[in-house]
Amino acid sequence: MRKKRIALLGSTGSIGTQALSVIRRHPERFEATVLTAGSNADLLIAQAIEFGPDAVVIADESRYAQVKDALSDRPIKVYAGAEALCQVVESQQVDMVLAAMVGFAGLKPTLCALRAGKAVALANKETLVVAGELVTACAMEHHVPLLPVDSEHSAIFQCLQGEVGNPVEKLLLTASGGPFRKFTAAQLADVTPAQALCHPQWSMGAKITIDSASMLNKGFEMIEARWLFGLPVERIEVVVHPESIVHSAVAFADGAVKAQLGVPDMCLPIQYAFAYPQRLADGAAPLDLFALGALHFERPNEHLFPCLTLAREASQRGGNAPCVLNAAGEVTNQAFRDGRIRFVDMPDLMARTMAKVPFEATPSLDTYFATDAEARAVCESMIG
Ligand code: NAD
Ligand code: MG
Repeated sequence: MRKKRIALLGSTGSIGTQALSVIRRHPERFEATVLTAGSNADLLIAQAIEFGPDAVVIADESRYAQVKDALSDRPIKVYAGAEALCQVVESQQVDMVLAAMVGFAGLKPTLCALRAGKAVALANKETLVVAGELVTACAMEHHVPLLPVDSEHSAIFQCLQGEVGNPVEKLLLTASGGPFRKFTAAQLADVTPAQALCHPQWSMGAKITIDSASMLNKGFEMIEARWLFGLPVERIEVVVHPESIVHSAVAFADGAVKAQLGVPDMCLPIQYAFAYPQRLADGAAPLDLFALGALHFERPNEHLFPCLTLAREASQRGGNAPCVLNAAGEVTNQAFRDGRIRFVDMPDLMARTMAKVPFEATPSLDTYFATDAEARAVCESMIG
């Protein structure tokens, strides 16, 4: 069996490092042939020395000399800059691309990978939030699989195996509820970035952790599910489930509900996407239902967490509306982490940005880039 050669976009991040641990556990099946990072040159160098890829890319061009010098005595090509990300995914040395960069920056390299006919394991949900229609059409046109890595979407995808043609009533998208699930409006007004960065169930990158606390992440996941599984957001129900054991479920027309359960560990969905349709040993730790005893489910409070409503409205509006929401989400997320705005200012700024940026019903890729830039500028100017 030939090894699957994987390009990891964002190899130094939370998903990227867990994906490398999957590859480390299955060296007979997987090989990391491309590693890329934003600016963490030290970790990228260490990963390149361990995994011996064909090429590495450091997006931050000011770190190029450091990476190049450190790898000069090895047969590893070293590139820098955003454009290089698109070139490396097209390489003959790549069978699959793991899109694990964060934010809008992941859109272009993901499209490059699909156009080059590479299977894509998608963690970078922002790509589908911004341009789901274009990205899924591109995957279809090039006959390449777009495999979900996000745990909820991997769960739904697993539940749908063997169900081709069977009518689905709705998708049940589970959410831990984040660190502020039981907070009142008054308590939410004063939360700090440090509190928001303490997720009760998952250890993730900073941006998605803040989005989880505000539930914008779950709003994005509704849009992600809408494109991956072709159901409108009205048929995607968010279910708060604090234990994060049921990773999501599918309700079929006959009344049956299939769910995928497991301990919260991203290595499982990453490994499932890498090995699909096979299941490999050594995924996550075994699930002990007796130790858990009980699982809990509740409705989300959209009054306290209006990001869910904003995302549903953006999806229903369509066109460039989700792209505007994503850009405002990225700007406000960073501004909150920098202490420039309060937690509760984020949804308000997103709503005002959405009201201000002109609507485009049928955006092209260029429109998305223009919308992203405009929405960022509008949102930044509101923050002042
Ligand atoms: P992270 O911040 O830990 O890692 C991001 C990676 O992307 C890093 O390697 C970073 O160097 C790279 N990067 C960032 N900006 C870049 C740029 N402009 N150009 C090139 N590279 C850049 O983030 P993460 O938590 O690993 O999340 C990655 C993606 O996966 C996000 O879209 C997130 O929503 C999604 N996701 C993450 C998790 C999780 O458990 N962490 C779960 C589901 C989905
Ligand atoms: Mg998720």
